[in-house]
Amino acid sequence: MSDLKLYNTLTREKELFIPLTPGEVKMYSCGPTVYNRPHIGNLRTFLWSDLLRRYLEWRGLRVKQVMNITDVEDKIIRDANKAGQDIGTYTAPFIDEFHAAVAEMRIRPADAYPRATEYIPQMIELVQHLTERGHTYTADGSTYFRVSTLPGYGKLSRIEIDATSDFSRIESDEYEKESARDFVLWKGKKEGEPAWPAPIGEGRPGWHLECSAMSMNLLGETFDIHTGAVDLIFPHHENEIAQSEGATGKPFVRYWVHGEHLNLDSQKMSKSVGNIYTLPDIKEMGYSPLALRYALLSVPHRTKLNFTEQSLDDARNALGRIESFLLRLDDLARSAPRDAAQSDGHADQLIGRFLIAFEEAMDDDLNTAGALGALFTFIRGANIAIDAGRISAADAEGMRTAMMKIDPVLDIFPKRDEVLDGDIEKMIEARIAARKARNFAESDRIRDQLLARGVILEDTAQGTRWRRK
Ligand code: AMP
Ligand code: ZN
Repeated sequence: MSDLKLYNTLTREKELFIPLTPGEVKMYSCGPTVYNRPHIGNLRTFLWSDLLRRYLEWRGLRVKQVMNITDVEDKIIRDANKAGQDIGTYTAPFIDEFHAAVAEMRIRPADAYPRATEYIPQMIELVQHLTERGHTYTADGSTYFRVSTLPGYGKLSRIEIDATSDFSRIESDEYEKESARDFVLWKGKKEGEPAWPAPIGEGRPGWHLECSAMSMNLLGETFDIHTGAVDLIFPHHENEIAQSEGATGKPFVRYWVHGEHLNLDSQKMSKSVGNIYTLPDIKEMGYSPLALRYALLSVPHRTKLNFTEQSLDDARNALGRIESFLLRLDDLARSAPRDAAQSDGHADQLIGRFLIAFEEAMDDDLNTAGALGALFTFIRGANIAIDAGRISAADAEGMRTAMMKIDPVLDIFPKRDEVLDGDIEKMIEARIAARKARNFAESDRIRDQLLARGVILEDTAQGTRWRRK
């Protein structure tokens, strides 16, 4: 079993990670609220969530990761109304942009991307369960969760509930962490808002309800890991726990993993403040998605990260060092006659130390700074040994193999002989356009072209996904 330790917000401790079902991990990551373009702060969170999944898989576990797409919520409705569009039309380009950015960042797709609007019946059912168990009341056509009915409410955010707590009703999805409030589960229909018919009254779901319903439907009533950035601890995740545990009487999530924010000038990067950079902005500044990936990954998820251009320059330099080293190994493996230089065991020592240090760092709550430190210590040591003529062709190949061993986790090495992710996305877009225009010959041609380059397309209800052969 794995020796991976994860900091669990629920217990405020680094805990040994043990999945509920041996060998299998079920994880839910709060996904984007699609009223705007994803910014690189969002990408930071999606990136380390994927890193966690990659590392669990590297450790030999099977992982099912679900990431929701919040496509109905207060801000979406506000902005869609402003634009004079229905929410489906308004959110579609932001959903596309999210998938494109994720792919370019080498964030692997989740196993499912449920959309809130596709799970309305399950959400209604959840409210009905909560009502049966005495946790709700209705007022003005909306249904609220009565926080005082659930002993233990506040256990995640450690909010105190006592006689002085303010149990006023709150309709908005987001509010400050100041007091426990009865929160809305189902919002009664209002003029100018989308609404669904329901036995609990025509209306729409609250944001917190969405995640409880989608996660439990796809992963079960109790699952292993739930991720998000720290802004979601209260009220969102606290209320998810209340809804899920209130309805099932079972523990909801075993490990709550939260990451710190990406800041700009020490302020949280956020769509509502507007101090954001998107991935296209970064590319316009002349940096590759890979440089951003490196810059974001180089700081462990629980450490605040202030975004600067300097960090992208540093990332670019670091990537350059890695690339030169890999080329140097290739040259060495090719040019030296295979058995000419005797291995003196030094390379094996360097490799051994590297892999142990990498694993130890990652086991320590995904300490990516330590993992990259191990990588560069290895590269430095190997370069010195190469300069000293101590590395045989076989050693060089062994070193390359060691580098490739950690590649599935960090995925920061340059990829050769492959189509770049950005190109794949462009070709997929061209194929979607061709299909819309009912030009099936062209769409088939693009599919075959991608297949020939090792990329398999899958048309799903959520859109077209791709994977490498
Ligand atoms: P949103 O689209 O705002 O619902 O956010 C999607 C994910 O990004 C959530 O897990 C948020 O907690 C996270 N997030 C939002 N802003 C930031 C930020 N500045 N840094 C890191 N993560 C963020
Ligand atoms: Zn959520």
